[in-house]
Amino acid sequence: MAEKRDYYEVLGVQRGASDDEIKKAYRKSAKKYHPDLHPGDKVAEEKFKEVNEAYEVLSDSEKRARYDQYGHAGVDPNFGAGGGSPFGQDMDIGDIFNSFFGGFGGFGGGRRNNPNAPRRGNDVETQVVITFEEAAKGCKKTVTYNNVETCDDCHGTGAQKGTQAKTCSACSGTGRVTVNQRSPFGVVQTQRACDVCRGKGKIIDTPCQKCRGGGRIRKQRRVDITIPAGISDEQILNVGGHGNSGQNGGPAGDLHVYIKVKPHEVFERRGDDVWCEMPISVAQAMLGSEVVVPTLDGKVSYTVHEGTQQGDVFKLKGKGIPHLNGRGRGDQYVRMNIEIPKSLNSKQKKAVQELDALLTDKNHAKQKSFREKIRKLFGD
Ligand SMILES: [Zn+2]
Ligand SMILES: [Zn+2]
Repeated sequence: MAEKRDYYEVLGVQRGASDDEIKKAYRKSAKKYHPDLHPGDKVAEEKFKEVNEAYEVLSDSEKRARYDQYGHAGVDPNFGAGGGSPFGQDMDIGDIFNSFFGGFGGFGGGRRNNPNAPRRGNDVETQVVITFEEAAKGCKKTVTYNNVETCDDCHGTGAQKGTQAKTCSACSGTGRVTVNQRSPFGVVQTQRACDVCRGKGKIIDTPCQKCRGGGRIRKQRRVDITIPAGISDEQILNVGGHGNSGQNGGPAGDLHVYIKVKPHEVFERRGDDVWCEMPISVAQAMLGSEVVVPTLDGKVSYTVHEGTQQGDVFKLKGKGIPHLNGRGRGDQYVRMNIEIPKSLNSKQKKAVQELDALLTDKNHAKQKSFREKIRKLFGD
């Protein structure tokens, strides 16, 4: 197996990074390497997997703590510890603390006491890229993601087919042993992980070849999801029960699907309203005209009124994005953009000058009063 890269390095964050920083870094990288954006690119696919794996560990406080302490050996389900609690020979700090102070929450001591207790699988996150129209109309997508599941060869026992895991006799299967320890406070009785079974409560003589005794394997999964009409960029869909599978009969975690909506060439979304620009000619603006406006429902014709000004906005009621609750839609706003010709030939120039002369009388009063204002402003 190739040397694994440090998870923090993979996500490009500091070791002490906050959960938020990790989440942000993950989204950035996952976006960059997402298979939808690099079809057939093996390198990107590997990177995507690597990023997901790093995030799976660093986003889970318990796993992250184990990773910080033991490195990859602490969290890799293929490392022989079942993805459970591979505390080694070391006394567990949390448990010493608990024995002195009567059990404080937050050290995870209580949860580790029984390695056979059902545990819920962790949630996993993936991303799906959809178009503007798909977000507006809703769509069905098949998403690909990695999760950790019970090994189907050994059904999670970690023992090779035809053999069985034995209950550890040193700890009677509890995974914990009680020891007396000298300390500055006198002799204290503490519990620690059983050395013989490494806290698992079971001993496997012949490990399953598929999962190397861990009982769990990493898999690439696909699931069909229905994305509701009106979903917006950066929303997260929760798909229950599609995360990592649970242990000892615990329920599976959830799959969080992070929605990325591609920007549209013509439309811009503001809330549930759709905005677009409508280019019209100077003549259309002056005289009024019938124009064809693109909407999510196809083309709509609209009468631009005479004397339309640059930046005028009109509204097409109910032509926006459906509200996520399924009741009604936003509106579409169309902003007029008058296209002034950038170069004219002499014939055109002459025509414009003639037009200007014809229009000057009408505009004269306005221009005059503007000049008055400037004069007042600068005092000359
Ligand atoms: Zn197995
Ligand atoms: Zn044991």
